[in-house]
Amino acid sequence: MEESPRVLSVQSHVVSGYVGNKSAVFPLQLLGFEVDFINSVQFSNHTGYKKVKGQILTEKDLAELVQGLAENNIDYYTHLLTGYIGSVSFLNQIACVVKQLRERNPNLIYVCDPVMGDNGRLYVNEELIPIYKNIISLATVITPNLFEAEILTDTKIKRTDNIWKAIDLLHKKGCETVVISSAELEDRPDLSIFASKRKGDSIEKLSMSVEKLPITFTGTGDLFAALLLSWMYKNDNNLKESLEKTVSTLQGILKRTVDSIKGKEFNSRNVELKLIQSKCDIEQPKITHHANIE
Ligand code: ATP
Ligand code: PLP
Ligand code: MG
Ligand code: MG
Repeated sequence: MEESPRVLSVQSHVVSGYVGNKSAVFPLQLLGFEVDFINSVQFSNHTGYKKVKGQILTEKDLAELVQGLAENNIDYYTHLLTGYIGSVSFLNQIACVVKQLRERNPNLIYVCDPVMGDNGRLYVNEELIPIYKNIISLATVITPNLFEAEILTDTKIKRTDNIWKAIDLLHKKGCETVVISSAELEDRPDLSIFASKRKGDSIEKLSMSVEKLPITFTGTGDLFAALLLSWMYKNDNNLKESLEKTVSTLQGILKRTVDSIKGKEFNSRNVELKLIQSKCDIEQPKITHHANIE
């Protein structure tokens, strides 16, 4: 029997709700991955609620946990997935972890969601920016949103041609697959997603669009990265099929979430993703959204 793929996912944990590892681990497991997860923080809930309480893991804690895995010879991973990271020292330690895991498995796929901000607003310390700029060269796949792509490339992205230029710059920094997880552009009416894979001389460029729902969800970026990782592996790195399955699954989950809110008070709790209820959409996505070849 072929050995299961094994992911190390370093993301936030929330006691209640679905962001970070709470939004990534369940779908990864459903799709057949062994998932080892390190909780970079343990918070009561996501930061959109009135109050947040909890603990933060330090870079020393992270190094110690990975050391424990190494000393027991259980540090072989096919994938590393990272999401929101709050401090410079923790992000620097992530770069060390990537190198350490690649010594064990030179083919390790590193999926990096360089979470820094959204809609023109930075929500991490700006000292993280230069570190992320370096980490791109270690990543196999990156999933910035439009604002994060602007920060990583020091460019302004207003229109579709700007986004392809930015994607090109990100490839030049050494990243094989670049996926812009969400972008609102002047020349496109809906929410757009762009993806590009470069391997040797082969280039694949895709775009997709989805109707923007008038709700701000949390955990969708984390879910996007986890689903993309899963489907790229299961579809033998076929970007078009993987992107279509990722986006269609997400839209199915969002539809279920929106339907569940009808008639209820609109608050953070009620907008939490209906992830568990969407088990079937995750396991067997129906392709409701197609990607265009650019
Ligand atoms: P990150 O901050 O993690 O880099 P992001 O800002 O792109 O990611 P989201 O804005 O949550 O994350 O978008 C991820 C995906 O979730 C989109 O590709 C889209 O399919 C879906 N999505 C999120 N919000 C909406 C919305 N309001 N309407 C429709 N789809 C949405
Ligand atoms: N982790 C924590 C602790 C958060 O509070 C949030 C958003 O509020 C996220 C991660 C990321 O959520 P998203 O996937 O929507 O980017
Ligand atoms: Mg967003
Ligand atoms: Mg996000």
